[in-house]
Amino acid sequence: MAMTIKKQAQHAFTVDLEAWFHAHNLNIVRTQWDDLPLRLDQPVSQLLSLLEKHHTQATFFILGYVAKRQPALVTTIHQAGHEIACHGMDHQRVDQLNESQFRDDVSRAKNTLESLIGEPVIGYRAPAYSIGSQTHWSLDMLRELGMRYDSSIYPVRAPHGRYGVPGAALSPSLLDNGLYEFPLPTWKIFRRRLPAATGGYLRLWPMLVTRLTFSQHDRANRPVVVNIHPWELDPDQPRQVVPFMRRLSHYTNLSKTLSRLDLLLSQHEFTTLRNLYQHHVQTRQSQLDVIKKATMLNGNCPPTRKADKQAHAIEV
Ligand SMILES: [Zn+2]
Repeated sequence: MAMTIKKQAQHAFTVDLEAWFHAHNLNIVRTQWDDLPLRLDQPVSQLLSLLEKHHTQATFFILGYVAKRQPALVTTIHQAGHEIACHGMDHQRVDQLNESQFRDDVSRAKNTLESLIGEPVIGYRAPAYSIGSQTHWSLDMLRELGMRYDSSIYPVRAPHGRYGVPGAALSPSLLDNGLYEFPLPTWKIFRRRLPAATGGYLRLWPMLVTRLTFSQHDRANRPVVVNIHPWELDPDQPRQVVPFMRRLSHYTNLSKTLSRLDLLLSQHEFTTLRNLYQHHVQTRQSQLDVIKKATMLNGNCPPTRKADKQAHAIEV
């Protein structure tokens, strides 16, 4: 008998679209990239088929380098109804760029993608989730560049220390500069929070952990922002000699990725981050309208000032 699983909060399905050689774990330098095969056709085709099977739209954070080298891939994904978002140009960590280099990297990638799809790109994800407490300036710059949301902050202390903002908001939130932040998902065990349901964690942790992560997020009415890379569906990619921990993180369970995603898509409702962003904006506007109406009925103080003060306290 088929198991019935209750569907609750709507989650987001995202893909960081880059080639296998862009993974920082493999440490392959920029000068080698042009001579290496992208190997994106098959895994992207598998992802698109899987998403179509489950009638699901996803957000593809596309690297500008890939868009330049294989533009048809971007239009294919866009024509299939998915959101095109930005993963920067050359996959450099944000904490290794200065403000001018970051602006240049994001604007070049954004322009490249927009010229291919003919519509604005409003979402950004930093390579390796590398926006942290030292690079908060980048969030202001994203807003200046026309982004409406970011999904780069991992609210954890990651075991390897390469990313994470311990204590950052676990739920989508509106930042002071007007940008929405959609944090990556965490699994709470005892008093610790660990990364889960993204990339290597989706492959390394047993599926029980992913299931617990969804339960915890569902109970808190918080979306799980799942993330995957096409190279994680490519067990035959060229093998590199790298230290043990990096090898473990990059190559473990590549042959299981597709079936795990299939299971997740059958158990939960997913949509694009653009849709979640629009939902949050609408919800916030409705709350503002209710507060303003109530304040005007009370008539005790100037309606706009009181409503604005209360609205500021609304959790989105
Ligand atoms: Zn990446």
